[in-house]
Amino acid sequence: MKLKTLFEELVNILKKADIENPQLEALIIIQEILKIPKHKVFLDLDLEVKDYQEAVKIATERSKKIPLAYLIKKREFFGLEFYVEEGVLIPRPETEILVEKVLQKLGNLKNPVGLEVGVGSGCISVSLLHSKKDLKMYALDISEKALKITKINAEKYNLLDRLTLIKFDVIKDDTKDLNLDKLDFVVSNPPYVSEDEYENLQEEVKKEPKEALISGKVGTEFYEKIVEKFKDYLKEDGFFAFEIGINQAEKVKSILEKIGFKNAKVYKDLAGIDRVLIASKI
Ligand code: GLN
Repeated sequence: MKLKTLFEELVNILKKADIENPQLEALIIIQEILKIPKHKVFLDLDLEVKDYQEAVKIATERSKKIPLAYLIKKREFFGLEFYVEEGVLIPRPETEILVEKVLQKLGNLKNPVGLEVGVGSGCISVSLLHSKKDLKMYALDISEKALKITKINAEKYNLLDRLTLIKFDVIKDDTKDLNLDKLDFVVSNPPYVSEDEYENLQEEVKKEPKEALISGKVGTEFYEKIVEKFKDYLKEDGFFAFEIGINQAEKVKSILEKIGFKNAKVYKDLAGIDRVLIASKI
């Protein structure tokens, strides 16, 4: 089959399923499966391709609204390439703001120690460790699969010696069993979608793990738990850094104010939505 025909066929499959960017996704599938860089596809439309079945199969799976990242098993985040598969949340561009702000806040602090609650694919901890060479992180998750995938991603960038992975349920488990050092910060992109909001999410998002998305009736239950369980582990000038959901800034601020963290700063994402909140005691 000619490359042009394959491209058209993939676009067709994706279009029929109402996929938002059929051309772009068809190019990505060709790039990942046939190893033809996507910017080269249009330069070589007459190329004869033999192993096109896999590409067609992936487009067909994609038309069932399975996110492309799960099908090609990767997603770029903070300039790094992360291995992902079903069972972990796919890294989102707005979460890069959280990483950026934590790095800014750490500045030149020497040998900081951080903890992430709900590490998922590892995109936050791995990006932080990759950017700050003297940082050590504890990373927790309730899901064995998430810990396994984070390990794959940390190993890929040679960061495992500064990362401690621990299975932990932040709602039920006791922090005493964790044997933690004092922390410079606690970072988390916890589940923050309320049960009602979940119903209205895109079909693709519903293919992602519910336990990484839904947080009770209101959506802020996890922030309360994280703050309650880890506040005493923070150093005097330690901070909490959270990704937050739409309209949650005030609520999360008030959770932190109750424990004396008064100077919360909120940062917006590219869509103008309050997305990151950082607060320290002093
Ligand atoms: N930003 C994600 C979404 O709306 C939610 C991530 C989360 O709950 N932490 O799909």
